[in-house]
Formats: sequence, structure tokens, C-alpha cells
Amino acid sequence: MTIQRPKGTQDLLPGPIGKWHHLEEIIRSVCREYGYEEIRTPIFEATELFQRGVGETTDIVNKEMYTFPDKADRSLTLRPEGTASVCRAYVEDKLYAQAQPVKLYYVGPMFRYEKPQSGRYRQFHQFGVEVLGADKPVVDAEVISLVWDLYRRLGLRDLEVHINSVGCPTCRAEHRRRLRDFLAPRRGELCRDCQERYERNPLRILDCKNPVCQEVSRGAPTTADTLCEDCREHFGEVQEFLTAAGVTYRPDPRLVRGLDYYRRTAFEIMVEEIGAQSAICGGGRYDGLVEEIGGPPTPAIGFAMGLERVLAALELQQNLQDREHGPFAVVVALGKEAQRQGFSLLSSLRQAGVPSGMDLLGRGLKAQLKQADRQGARLALILGDEELKRQVAILRDLTLGEQAEIAWPDILTTVSAKYKEEEEK
Ligand code: AMP
Repeated sequence: MTIQRPKGTQDLLPGPIGKWHHLEEIIRSVCREYGYEEIRTPIFEATELFQRGVGETTDIVNKEMYTFPDKADRSLTLRPEGTASVCRAYVEDKLYAQAQPVKLYYVGPMFRYEKPQSGRYRQFHQFGVEVLGADKPVVDAEVISLVWDLYRRLGLRDLEVHINSVGCPTCRAEHRRRLRDFLAPRRGELCRDCQERYERNPLRILDCKNPVCQEVSRGAPTTADTLCEDCREHFGEVQEFLTAAGVTYRPDPRLVRGLDYYRRTAFEIMVEEIGAQSAICGGGRYDGLVEEIGGPPTPAIGFAMGLERVLAALELQQNLQDREHGPFAVVVALGKEAQRQGFSLLSSLRQAGVPSGMDLLGRGLKAQLKQADRQGARLALILGDEELKRQVAILRDLTLGEQAEIAWPDILTTVSAKYKEEEEK
């Protein structure tokens, strides 16, 4: 039996990978413009980091982690998300001692043992941003407008940006009390997880996907009803800054991030067209997390965006094309000596930065030209015995179908100039 890839994973093949490169290039250029620097953390971490950093009561930690002992019996986990690792690095690498805030981004694979379906994988990719060491509302707005700008640059339409404030520990205590009072008469109808959440963290009941729990919690008091003066002011300012930056958003009092270390701003971005898994980005302020994993008290905010879902949405909306990365020029050499000369020319072209190729299978002239055409090459440089003798090549423009002789000393400058011209188009 042939060996197959693990369930919930994908091979990203040479054609479609062009879309990934396109997306990643735009991500990197937007991050550069916003002054965010890349951080790369390990793919696996001590399991305890996620238990503390993501939260023991979450589905991610309880049900979805790829956890294994290493040969020295340490418990390790493939990272299910990026924020905990970034916070660990902030503490371990003493980034808190640098000028604040520290503005970071990451792009990479994450692993969750979830039920695979369209838009949900066991290995998927996230782009995420974290700002550590700043608590002002303008930071929240900057993070949201970064992702908004990114979508605009990608040409993604019909986005819904939902924002809310989940308050701070002070006002959340009052919300918790009101929420328990509201749910108490129908507590027995809640799912088993929510029965437990009722005791430990009733806010998370508002986030439950179970239809019965959703029905029971309809009309429940929202955090908006209980925000303290400071949280209300913070939320108001975030909205003012978002409006100033031209971001269209919708306040959504049912949007919650239920863990204790979440404070104030929470947001989620949806594209309804891609179906059940419509969330393409989620984020919020997590002022208590760095302290939770042993660092100094540090306000922080961030988001994570699912790359598979963004690509799915782009494809639906604009038939994002596979981008082939074929050669620009192809050396068509006929005969042993021509191959040697051609190989030397090929290497000069590549060193000059022109993507170039040459036949590797010993094909004849017609087959080589056909292959060049299939690869989308723009130019062919044909070298046969006759051309060798006269130290020339035939330069054929494969799109226009025109050709002319060119002397060897002129090849590099001519082809480089044509490549530059094409790149600038
Ligand atoms: P989260 O870390 O759960 O807040 O997720 C942030 C974003 O990552 C979501 O909005 C999705 O776009 C994406 N995402 C989360 N889980 C998966 C998954 N299993 N497969 C694909 N994308 C995912």
C-alpha cells in the first residue's frame, strides 16, 4: 500500500504554491510598512507553555494538542497557535528590556487535532501579529487596521469586522455575576462543557457553538452592559481611531474571548462566502498573559489569521490564478559542444539574476521549444553547430514569434535588459 499524508494535512504543490508566495509577500510588505518585525519560534514547545498560555479549560488544550514525550521523557507539544510562544520569547529573550512596544509578526504552520473539513485542517498556517508593552487604544486600532489594509491590498471583499470589549477583571466580576443569575434557571439544559463553564468561566458559554447553549444564552447580559468607566472609554477610543483609519467595523456584544487574561478589545473578521468556517482572523488584547507565563506585567494585543481560509476566500472572489515560476529564458543547445557552451551561458544568465533553464533530457530542437513554451518562457537562445562556429546564437521571442541573430558578447546585456523591462511591467 502506498503511504498517504496524514489526515487533515495538505501538500502545497508547485503550481498553487505561487498563491502562497503572493500572499506571504504582501503580508511581509504590509508588516514592513507598519514597522513590525518577524519572529520565528520553535514548532514544538514544552507542553506546559500552552497549558498556561492558551488555558487549561480551552478545547485547544483539552482536546486538540499533538503532545508527545521526547526520548528524555519531556512532554512536548506541536504548537497549536503562536501567541504563547511569542510571549515566552519576550520573557526568555528579555525583549521587555528593549524599547517598547515590541511589534512582532510570524507566519508558519500550526497543529490542532480537529475534525478535518473544508477550511479546517490539522496542519494549517497562520499569520499573526503581536504588540507587547503598550496599552493605549491607538495600538488596538493599529493592529486592526493592519489586517484591514492587508485585505484591501489582497483585493478581498465583503469582510465583516466585529469588535467588542470584554472588560477587565474588575468589571468582568460584575458581568459574571449577572450572567450566572440569568443562566441559573436553565442551567440544566446546557451542554456538559458549559455546565462546567458555568462554575469556572460563564463568559465562555456565550461562545459555545452548541445550538441549545446558544438558545439558552440568547438575550444574556453582555459585557457592554457592565463595562467600567475606564474600559468604556478605551473601547470608545478604539472605535474613534478605527473610523479615523477608514476601517468599517461592527460592534458585536456577543463576541467574547473567554480566558482570564483577555482584557478589553476582542475582534474577529469574517467572510460569509467561504461557508461554515467563515472566520479568517481573530484577535484581542491579552494584558495578563505575559505575567501568567512568568514575565513582568505587560499589556499586549495581537491577532492570528488563517492563510488557507484567506486563500479560499480570494479564490472564490477573484479566481486567484496559480502562478507558475517558469524560466524567463531558455537555452536550446543542439549537440555536445553546444551543450557545454550553452551550460556556461546558462550559468552566466542565472548569475545575472535572470531565471533561466535548459533541457535536461536530451530532447531535439522541436521538443525543446515546445517545452520552453509550456513552461511559459519568454525567450529562447538557440545554439547549434553553425552558431557555435560563428560565435552567435539565435534569440527567439517566444511570445512574438520573432527571431534574430545575436553575438555572444551581447547576449547577457540584451537578455538582462528584456527581463528587467518585463519585471517592471
Ligand atoms: P484562533 O487561533 O483559533 O483564534 O484562530 C485564528 C484563525 O486561524 C481563525 O480565524 C482561522 O482563520 C484560522 N484557523 C484556526 N483553526 C484552523 C484550522 N483547524 N484550520 C484552518 N484554519 C484555522
